[in-house]
Amino acid sequence: MHGTCSACTPTDSDPDRKLETKVYTIKNPSSPDEDDLKMIAECGEIIKRGGLVAFPTETVYGLGGDALNEESSGRIYAAKGRPSDNPLIVHICEIPALEKIARDIPEEAYILAEKFWPGPLTMILKSSGSVPLKTTGGLDTVAVRMPSDKVALEFIKASGGFIAAPSANISGRPSPTKACYVLEDMDGRIDAVIDGGDNAIGLESTIIDLTDGSMQVLRPGYITNEKLGEALGRNIETDPALLDPSCKDRPKAPGMRYRHYAPKGQVHPVKGDPEKVLEHIRAKLSEAKAENKKTGVFCSKENAGKYDADVIRCAGSLDDAEAAAHFFYSALRDMDDENADIIFVENFTEHGFGEAFWNRLLKSAGSEWEEA
Ligand code: AMP
Ligand code: MG
Repeated sequence: MHGTCSACTPTDSDPDRKLETKVYTIKNPSSPDEDDLKMIAECGEIIKRGGLVAFPTETVYGLGGDALNEESSGRIYAAKGRPSDNPLIVHICEIPALEKIARDIPEEAYILAEKFWPGPLTMILKSSGSVPLKTTGGLDTVAVRMPSDKVALEFIKASGGFIAAPSANISGRPSPTKACYVLEDMDGRIDAVIDGGDNAIGLESTIIDLTDGSMQVLRPGYITNEKLGEALGRNIETDPALLDPSCKDRPKAPGMRYRHYAPKGQVHPVKGDPEKVLEHIRAKLSEAKAENKKTGVFCSKENAGKYDADVIRCAGSLDDAEAAAHFFYSALRDMDDENADIIFVENFTEHGFGEAFWNRLLKSAGSEWEEA
């Protein structure tokens, strides 16, 4: 289903190709063995010396540095080309670590931590001041998450317990869901990458803000409103402005302002009745071909054979948000590798985890979609 990426291809065809960034390949990512733990310990030492190591999590690959060392955070921004007012998430490996970096922690934070940690939920809390402002993008709040990926947890522990990590891509590009995609963007910019295989979820964490009494969802993710609502015993709704990427000013979630997840070609999500969507995309593909454009489609597995496009990548069925999310970023990277000028995306479900998929899809499309 996946194509090759430009980072993998030369390595496979040219075994002598030298990578500047060291790769540590984990043999048993679901249960790291003694050799794996030795490599992870070495990576922990790199972090303690102020270096940068990309590592797998259940969401996407993170670009890790010591969260308590402002110079490390500075290096993260530089390696990614990320604006320094776009704060970093601090990754911890045990719940008590929360109290070192946050203050006035509300009861709901503990309820949600017990229920969803380790896991793909990030909580914004008031900062205790121990995390440097360089890490929090100058804010007096701090974003905290405890990932469930076993390699990530061991790596955080080996690094001293507090890893600042954004996604390990060049700012604006699709987040990396495999170690080879990290190398595609980061080779020579960071010290090492821990290769723990494909990320289980493939889309960034849910972010919630708990700093002003009423919990607010700032970024939808795998932990859906429904799951949050069940845990808290009330109804949770996402602010509709959040799902509209053209919304410019959200001081609470600075990163939302920036262009994200975007391939070089123009992405066109198409909504509507599935039969009409199929016909609409087929018609648009012939128009684009007539204009000599290179075309791409991201579609359901049932429809993969029904399009005449240069690059076709499929996920699961239209109602399978998990598969759509899982294959989306690698599909966008393949579109870039093949220089697709125009990319059509079928109407996968917007319900449950589908809300998070649509949030990222619309961002990659610059907020526009077409009605079939
Ligand atoms: P990522 O781009 O996946 O690294 O996610 C980081 C995002 O988390 C940022 O772009 C912000 O939107 C959000 N974030 C991190 N720290 C904070 C914070 N202290 N307050 C509000 N949002 C934050
Ligand atoms: Mg990111």
